[in-house]
Amino acid sequence: MSEKALEKAWSDHSRLWEHNIWVYPVISRRAGGLSIGINLNLDKRCSFDCAYCQVDRTIPGKKQEVDIARIEEEIETIIAAYEKNGLADFSTFKDVEEEKREIKDISLSGDGESTTVKEFPEVCKLMRKMQDKYPNHPLKLTLITNATMLGLPSVREGLKTLTEKRGEIWAKLDAGSSEWYKKINRSAVSLEKIQQNIESAVKDFPLRIQTLFCKIKDEFPSEKEIELYIARLKRIYEVSPKNLLGIQLYGVVRHTATPDVHPLEKSFLENVARKIQREIPTEVDIY
Ligand code: SF4
Repeated sequence: MSEKALEKAWSDHSRLWEHNIWVYPVISRRAGGLSIGINLNLDKRCSFDCAYCQVDRTIPGKKQEVDIARIEEEIETIIAAYEKNGLADFSTFKDVEEEKREIKDISLSGDGESTTVKEFPEVCKLMRKMQDKYPNHPLKLTLITNATMLGLPSVREGLKTLTEKRGEIWAKLDAGSSEWYKKINRSAVSLEKIQQNIESAVKDFPLRIQTLFCKIKDEFPSEKEIELYIARLKRIYEVSPKNLLGIQLYGVVRHTATPDVHPLEKSFLENVARKIQREIPTEVDIY
């Protein structure tokens, strides 16, 4: 029962929770428990257009001014429900084993790219405030990002605040070559710019790389593609071995933006993980 409940809770990443607008609780495999997610992109705008995106853009998003006070209230509502009985009053969570719904982090992860929102530095300040307000829950702070904006001074200001105490950037890098990047991330921002942004961020802040591998139509990343990808990781590692906390490899599990996207065998990810570990002494996890 509990395994089934866990699968359901993992796959249910609905941003709509009770009466909240911006904040939602989710059981996250990568966070290792309950994550409080903040979705700053109600309009669903993103600087990437990933072929594997799970955000349903056939239903248009809403334009709404970011309301910091409301976000604070919503985080507090979730923490209060968690402190009451571990969110057991809610159907998505009640059958999940208690230790698997232990609160782990506050994460900026929405229906678009959080760093494109002008209030990003203010939201980071709020997250730090929440971290200090609840010392009984040693909350991590996480920014999940496609790295397109990491070089902007206002974004760096936010990153500085976010990483002061147990904060991490989880930056997306899905390709080694521009050809594969164009097929998978479909962005106006070049892959070289993404690489530059990640390198400048890892110089100063703790960061993990997140990579999604999948098949698009019948094409999958070639051996050459993987070589180029690992060469990029090596460059990032060499900038700061200390700040590169690890690599997360993952595949597609839920409904995606295009029907052409298909999962790869787990052995593909295991093989890439082995190749990375031969080149870089860093943690590699598969999800
Ligand atoms: S970066 Fe995230 S939200 Fe944006 S298109 Fe890609 S998967 Fe979707």
